[in-house]
Amino acid sequence: MTAERARITVFDTTLRDGEQSPGCSMNQQEKLRLAHQLDRLGVDVIEAGFPIASDGDFESVKAIAAVVRRPIIAGLARACRPDIERAWEALKDAAHPRIHVFLATSDIHLQYKLRITRDQCVAQARDAVRFAKSVCEDVEFSPEDATRTDPDFLCRVLTAVVEAGATTLNIPDTVGYTVPSEFADLITTIRQRVKGIEKVTISAHCHNDLGMAVANALAAVGAGARQVECTINGIGERAGNASLEEIVMAMRTRPDRYPYETGVVSEQIFASSQLLSEIIGVPVQPNKAITGRNAFAHEAGIHQDGVLKNPLTYEIMTPKSVGVPDSKLVLGKHSGRHALGMRCEQLGYQFDRRALDDIYRRFVRLADKIKNVEDHHLLELIRETHKPATSATPLIEPLPSAKAAAVAAPAAGTPAAGPPAASIAASSASASNSPAPEPIKPFPIAPVTNAFGAPLPVHSDHHHEHQQQEDYLWGV
Ligand SMILES: [Zn+2]
Repeated sequence: MTAERARITVFDTTLRDGEQSPGCSMNQQEKLRLAHQLDRLGVDVIEAGFPIASDGDFESVKAIAAVVRRPIIAGLARACRPDIERAWEALKDAAHPRIHVFLATSDIHLQYKLRITRDQCVAQARDAVRFAKSVCEDVEFSPEDATRTDPDFLCRVLTAVVEAGATTLNIPDTVGYTVPSEFADLITTIRQRVKGIEKVTISAHCHNDLGMAVANALAAVGAGARQVECTINGIGERAGNASLEEIVMAMRTRPDRYPYETGVVSEQIFASSQLLSEIIGVPVQPNKAITGRNAFAHEAGIHQDGVLKNPLTYEIMTPKSVGVPDSKLVLGKHSGRHALGMRCEQLGYQFDRRALDDIYRRFVRLADKIKNVEDHHLLELIRETHKPATSATPLIEPLPSAKAAAVAAPAAGTPAAGPPAASIAASSASASNSPAPEPIKPFPIAPVTNAFGAPLPVHSDHHHEHQQQEDYLWGV
């Protein structure tokens, strides 16, 4: 037993900040599925949505609050009465409800977006928190754009909301601007100067515009933050949020430097990542730390060659520790669709439900004939079944339709648009009537969206309805 490791609260905002980002919309059923998985994953807080943003958001938060009972369920609200009332309406039946109120505090936001003075900002934040507190014991406050806010003023706002009853102070690096040393200093300043700070939890909410979201979140924890806000696969506004799996595994792999505990069941990480990817239809970047297809790619090499005696020679964590299925897993006729889907995924193919059903039927017939279905059998079967450009998704080499989509949406400058992929596309286009070509070392081409690249137009719906709701495009 290690002596006193600080417990860090993991606040997952995949369903709010993540879902708000282009190409990542989910319907209520999908949100519920993911919320159940987040529960299994062991996160402490699920930010389930932004109830006033739309009826769909409201219903989703309400539905999650009704059935997911272990974690805290949070709902986002701007610092105004209708938002807070709507959030509470959605949350009130939760076992552990939290209202998350936000208000921008940087001069640039006050002047150009909110058009209020600093004094008005303090008053609005305080009143909003006080009102939220009158309906809900657990109130989180976020000074949006905190990292570009004058620290003196930031401390003044935070002192006011602590006085008004906030229990968590979340410090958002809304625009992904800060760097680890600066962010740690800011947390230290807040701890030194905000009155009553010892009674509340400090939280970090970092965006990845400069690729430092995880590093910034960890620096904040080092400086005394005890909650981190993050998302599965790092999805979120623009370049995304701090990635849950990276934060958790950094703590687990380097306890010497990060002596902290979380409640996350790391073995559920891979399943969570895969489920999210399947739901939103956005593949995980192959070299993504922890959850990318290649993150443990060397593992196959070990097994196949049997050359190295001890994986620890170059493995800082095991695939098993994050729930990557054993690559030796043998598929038989009792294997379920899920196992089959996972195996296909590991082989570089991702299918929608209908296509997977099709593969599954053939797989069961084959498994009846031969006992153990090995990878090469499966690959053959996929090649037979898979009709180019129907439903297989972007994990395989670009198909003519994907190429067309890429041309149609040149803004989606994915790394895969490089010359090798293009030439593969060309060759597969020229042979479009022949059987699907040999799977070439896959690299994702996203025909519609792109996980970590340029934003595409939001394909729904409610976020743009009213001009006065422009805050939704910011959040925290
Ligand atoms: Zn955010």
